[in-house]
Amino acid sequence: MDERRIGVIGAGTMGNGIAQVSALAGYDVTMIDVDDAALQRGRDALQSSLARMVKKGTLAQADADAALQRVHGSTELQQLRGAHLLIEAATERLELKLRILRQLDELADDGAVIATNTSSISITQLAAVLRRPQRFIGVHFFNPVPLMALVELIRGLQTDDASHAAARRFVERVGKTAVDVRNSPGFVVNRLLVPMINEAVFVLQEGVASAADIDAAMKLGCNHPIGPLALADMIGLDTVLAVMQVFYDGFNDPKYRPAPLLKEMVDAGRLGRKSGHGFYRYD
Ligand code: NAD
Repeated sequence: MDERRIGVIGAGTMGNGIAQVSALAGYDVTMIDVDDAALQRGRDALQSSLARMVKKGTLAQADADAALQRVHGSTELQQLRGAHLLIEAATERLELKLRILRQLDELADDGAVIATNTSSISITQLAAVLRRPQRFIGVHFFNPVPLMALVELIRGLQTDDASHAAARRFVERVGKTAVDVRNSPGFVVNRLLVPMINEAVFVLQEGVASAADIDAAMKLGCNHPIGPLALADMIGLDTVLAVMQVFYDGFNDPKYRPAPLLKEMVDAGRLGRKSGHGFYRYD
C-alpha cells in the first residue's frame, strides 16, 4: 500500500477540489468518474483553479504544473488498488454511495481507510455495507474546497482510532483544520447553519421584516459576511429544503420543520441563483 497515493471517487465540484488540494500537498491522486466527459470537466475545473492561484501570486507556475501532473483520471475503480485512502465524493444518493462503497471494500487493501464526503447521509449507515466498518470515516470538506479551511471528521459508531488518526493526518497535510464530530444528522456546521436559514424564511413569511432587512440585520448585527436569505439563494433552496427534511426525519423533532414558504418557493421553481430567482432576482 502506498502512503502517498489516494483515490477520489467523483470528479464534480467537491471531488476535483479534493483532488486539487491533495495534489498540491504532494499526493498522487487518481480521480474516478463515470465517463471521460465528466473526468475532463473535473480536470478543467482543477486546472482553472490552479491558474487563478498562479495569477493571484499565491502559487508558483512550476508547483501548479507539478500538482496537475500528480492527478490521474480513470473510469475504472480498479485503478484505485494500492491507495491508502479512498474518498467517495460522488452524487448525494444513498443507493449510489452504497454501491460504490461495496466496490471499494472489495478492492481496498486491508489497511486502507475508506472515507465519504457526504453532507447528509449517516456515516454509520454507510459503514454498515462494509466488511470492515471500523476503517470507514466521514471527511466532510466545504465548498469551494481550495478556499475553505475546515474539514469535519465524522466518526461512525464503529470507526476505530487508527482510521481516525490517518484521516486527521491527511486533513492536516492538505492544510485544513479538522474538527471531530460524532455521527449525527447535519454534523455541526449544517446543523447550525441550515436551521438558521430556515428561521430566516419563517421571519420573512411572518412579515417581521423584508428579505433585504433580514440579510442586512445579520450582516451588520452579527458580522456575517452574507445574509441568510442571500446564502440560501447561493446554496439552492431545494438543497436547503432537503437538508431540513433530513433533520426533521432524523431527529423526529418538530423544531426542524421546513418553513412553508421555503417549500412553496421550491414548488414554484424559485431555487435561487441557479434558476435566476429565489429571495432575490439574478439576471
Ligand atoms: P457534483 O454533482 O458536482 O459531482 C458528483 C460527481 O459524481 C459527478 O461528476 C458524477 O458524474 C459523479 N458520479 C456519479 N456516479 C458516479 C459513480 N458511480 N462513480 C464515480 N463518479 C460518479 O456533486 P458535488 O457537489 O461534488 O457533491 C459530491 C458529494 O460531496 C456529495 O456527497 C455532497 O453531499 C458532498 N458535498 C457537497 C458540497 C457542495 O457544496 N457541493 C459540500 C460538501 C459536501
